[in-house]
Amino acid sequence: MSHADGARVAYRTCHLCEATCGLELHLDGREITLVRGDRADVFSHGFLCPKGTALKQLEADPDRVRQPLLRDGERFREVSWDEAFEAIDTGLSPLRERHGNDALAIYLGNPNAHNLAGLVYNRAVLQAAGTRNVYSASTVDQMPKQVSAGMMFGAALSIPVPDIDRTDYLLILGANPFASNGSLMTAPDMPGRLRNMRARGGKLVVVDPRRTKTAEEADEHLPIRPATDALFLLALVEVLFADDLVDLGAVAPYVNGLDDVRDVAREFTPESVEHVCGIDAATIRRTAHELARAPAAAVYGRIGTCTQEFGTLTSWLVDVLNVCTGNLDRPGGAMFTLPATGGANTGGTPGKGRGATFGRRRSRVRGLPEFYGELPVVCLAEEIETPGEGRVRALITVAGNPAVSTPDAARMQRALASLDFMVSLDMYVNETTRHAHVILPPEPELARGHYDLALYSLAIRNVANYSPPLVELAGGEVPEWRTMLRLAGVLAGMGAHADADALDDGIVAGLVHKAVTRSGSNVEGRAADELVQALAARRGPERVLDFMLRTGPYGDGFGADPDGLSLAVLEAHPHGVDLGHLQPRIPEMLRTPSGMIELAPRACVDDVERLRAARLRLDSSNGVLVLVGRRDLRSNNSWMHNLPVLVKGKARCTVHVHPEDAQRHGVRDGHEVRVRSSAGEIVLPVEITDSVRPGVVSIPHGWGHDTDGAQMQTAARNAGANSNVLSPGDLYDPLSGNAVLSGIAVELVPVAVAVGADVDGR
Ligand code: SF4
Repeated sequence: MSHADGARVAYRTCHLCEATCGLELHLDGREITLVRGDRADVFSHGFLCPKGTALKQLEADPDRVRQPLLRDGERFREVSWDEAFEAIDTGLSPLRERHGNDALAIYLGNPNAHNLAGLVYNRAVLQAAGTRNVYSASTVDQMPKQVSAGMMFGAALSIPVPDIDRTDYLLILGANPFASNGSLMTAPDMPGRLRNMRARGGKLVVVDPRRTKTAEEADEHLPIRPATDALFLLALVEVLFADDLVDLGAVAPYVNGLDDVRDVAREFTPESVEHVCGIDAATIRRTAHELARAPAAAVYGRIGTCTQEFGTLTSWLVDVLNVCTGNLDRPGGAMFTLPATGGANTGGTPGKGRGATFGRRRSRVRGLPEFYGELPVVCLAEEIETPGEGRVRALITVAGNPAVSTPDAARMQRALASLDFMVSLDMYVNETTRHAHVILPPEPELARGHYDLALYSLAIRNVANYSPPLVELAGGEVPEWRTMLRLAGVLAGMGAHADADALDDGIVAGLVHKAVTRSGSNVEGRAADELVQALAARRGPERVLDFMLRTGPYGDGFGADPDGLSLAVLEAHPHGVDLGHLQPRIPEMLRTPSGMIELAPRACVDDVERLRAARLRLDSSNGVLVLVGRRDLRSNNSWMHNLPVLVKGKARCTVHVHPEDAQRHGVRDGHEVRVRSSAGEIVLPVEITDSVRPGVVSIPHGWGHDTDGAQMQTAARNAGANSNVLSPGDLYDPLSGNAVLSGIAVELVPVAVAVGADVDGR
């Protein structure tokens, strides 16, 4: 592709959050001169948030790593790609030969979910590494939802999303889509969609310990006590049964376990939970009735429901409510996307599958089970630090910053510093990658193609939009997919000069072979050579994407359906292709062994006992301050704090404290306070506000950029404090291994008072 210099306009999907907005980019050569929302985008219709415009600063950021870096004592020096890979081979190969594959751990950060190359080729790196020590940001985020979806519907991404454009009632728990723009629910312009829902007579109810922007815009805000959502949801379920409101609707023939759910919910009457949840029984009853009687309704839970001690239980109950009110899989309810590239619930035999199994292996030190092939990241630091056979001695991070993003962050930083060898695929020298021995940068965003493979699986409409590369690679820049395959080659023992093209050919040949031999595939029985030939004009992720589109639910089947999708079709539609409203998909999307919705998975039902025990603890702990997170519209990943446009203005890394608590603990607005937990302590400014309920303090995550060795100048000037220093590494949701970041007991101590003074600061 050739790109003439000079001014031009191009279109591209924003990769900075899950909303997949279309951007109109004004370019002058390689430089972005203006970013606007793309009004013709079939999904976002011109919407964009302040982060979208930051793409210009991100591409031009002088702190970005542009060439491979090799550690040289305390510093890094730029080296050639060959030198970098030779260093990796020298650093990793003997270490793995001596100590085994498990001596190498891999950590995948959240940006991989927005990266076509990562989603296609990380698998090759993991397979070549052959280690059980695979970790990701999923276990500080959405793993509970993936586990409950796997147990109920048979696949990790079989997560129902609210059909927000057609619903009449939306109950949101632990989410703030006015700031996040939606998560596990891909929907550009969430503010507009929620306002439209209300304008057409719908009702928005927000359950959150904070009066978020979304709560402010809602019809009703229920300020729940942190980590008690499962009790609240069980009480809603109890009312549905007690008041004869359960109606499964069209999915009724496909539901197992309804009686078990009734039995388990029976004791959780609204009166029995109101004191613990902080929501009165009458409101709980009314909410259950409204939910059941709305023409179409959806319950949606997000980060606050996942990063708590009952994350999987809560995630499960969200969908129990969707099923019990007849809202699962119906227009206006909670529905399943049918993504253009297919997925775990479009392949194989429709309506049946192997389901999800967990715990096929366990972590060495604590014995925690794996989930979907990865171990909980709460285990990573101890796997590095604990001596003995199988200790993690080397680490590869791919677009991740575990030093900031994972629990017990102080310990994690010590653990990273102790590694024998570390490789990071990253665009910054950040709090994590400063420990690396080799850093391999990605190419600029505009030099790569983009397609939201993962996010379009959770979209509230069926859509497909491909963004081609807009600029040529400059000297020394290498596409990340080639870097990943070359790294996979090193890990597979091919040496530093592994042939990425040959590995890519092998991957494509394997995919094609699987498709032509798979019963029910739209290319079943076709000649593999012919298909490989048809794909030959492309390489890398684009070739794989073309294959996935053509063999996907709307695909052209390599000529079988001339009107079907292919990458060429998407290239001809720069504003995307709208494939319509979500359609009912049960039973064909189910992949449970029974072919049924498992409404009462044994693990969830059994976990209610833990909740029962905690009810007493939670009820008696009124008066204890607990920490919750906070999302800001101008922040998402920690690296966004290096973009001036996203950190300008008033400091946002503050602790929100309710006026009553401020008075009780002697802290003053604008003054610094020490926030202390069993794991550690941080100091940051206080913001007194009644937007948090009494007993709750709130700190945003992803900050704490005052670390020696990191090379992010803007972030360092706006350092903030790392909230994960406060999250204990021994707190996790046992059903998913997810870290507990919300509901942690903390103390506030004015900084003028010596550490060790009591909570009142006297
Ligand atoms: S909402 Fe998300 S996808 Fe849309 S412009 Fe903002 S960051 Fe980009």
